[in-house]
Amino acid sequence: MSTYEKNYIADHVNELKPSGIRKFFDLASKMENVISLGVGEPDFVTPWNVIEASYHSLERGYTAYTANAGLWELRKELSVFLEANYQVAYNPEDQLLVTVGASQAIDLACRAILNPGDEVIVIEPSFVSYVPTIRLAGGVPVIVEATEEHAFKVQAEQIEKAITSKTKALLICSPNNPTGAVLSKEEMEQISEVAKAHDLIVFSDEIYADLIYDEAFTSFASIPGMIERTILISGFSKAFAMTGWRLGYAAGPKSIVEAMTKIHQYTIMCASTMAQHGALEALRNGKGSVLEMKTSYRQRRNYVVKALQEMGLSCHLPGGAFYVFPSIKSTGLDSEAFAEALLEDQRVAVVPGNVFGESGEGYIRCSYATSMKQLTEAMKRMRRFMEKLK
Ligand code: PMP
Repeated sequence: MSTYEKNYIADHVNELKPSGIRKFFDLASKMENVISLGVGEPDFVTPWNVIEASYHSLERGYTAYTANAGLWELRKELSVFLEANYQVAYNPEDQLLVTVGASQAIDLACRAILNPGDEVIVIEPSFVSYVPTIRLAGGVPVIVEATEEHAFKVQAEQIEKAITSKTKALLICSPNNPTGAVLSKEEMEQISEVAKAHDLIVFSDEIYADLIYDEAFTSFASIPGMIERTILISGFSKAFAMTGWRLGYAAGPKSIVEAMTKIHQYTIMCASTMAQHGALEALRNGKGSVLEMKTSYRQRRNYVVKALQEMGLSCHLPGGAFYVFPSIKSTGLDSEAFAEALLEDQRVAVVPGNVFGESGEGYIRCSYATSMKQLTEAMKRMRRFMEKLK
């Protein structure tokens, strides 16, 4: 880009770094025979009944905008779903907003809540979009590190220490991307005490709620006293294998959801109508498909963790999502050098941990949302790579 062109770009955009994941996968896309453990999306196709419901909505002529907040039937169904599954009660009238993926819900939450200079505590390693989204909304991300020593779970005291007079919100993601860590109910209660004591809003990204393997899921909003200060963010991408449909939602206190809807109505109008019809079917009749996919992910998780441990890498058993986050510190390589060498030498693409924040250095993220056949081959290649490093 010439300096002349660059002058048009707003400073806060110029200052954003391009995503480290993108950079790495551009490299991988130029190579042949690569097995990718890099992508953060299901390898399943969306369940057929969901696709069919969307087709049928088009056949019946539902091709216009929906209400800004989303199809009324979908919001009603979401409210039933959230109450039945997560024990949280939201009024579909004014406490639920259907968005373009969880991504848009995060963006709206930040823009609705943050004044310039307001601080948001972000737990790293974290999903790559949080920090840029907070910055674009004028907020200031304050990083707290979740370490391997605590199984990548942030400790309530760490959050307490990071609070200043400018802290307005806390962004939590459990089950987590990239570590797969799941906070227990007790851990959430401890964090909630801090949020209540300091009057913080919690942005709770629960997009992996239904992909949890060893325990029951607890929604942040279900902790006593939290529903009035939590913006629950979720979506259809992960559990229902609907990443390309771009459908998510936010649930929260009326005043906040109304503020988010105000931005949404001017910038987006409404989420895709046909996708909303598909989502309605996913909520009504998708439970079986989710369970099937979850069973398969669990089996693959167990296989990959064991294989990585057997090749000498320290790797926690993640409780949810579809990622493992092994340490590569024993190899003496940093995460980018490790990922690059693995790609060059064995054609296996993983994501260097440092793209998820500084505390991700020394780790790599491997997604196990790929077939057992591919995973078996990837583990074979990684074993060969580890042997060579010895
Ligand atoms: N939150 C987390 C933690 C994610 O991993 C992702 C997708 N990688 C998103 C939000 C965005 O999801 P969506 O497709 O619903 O925008």
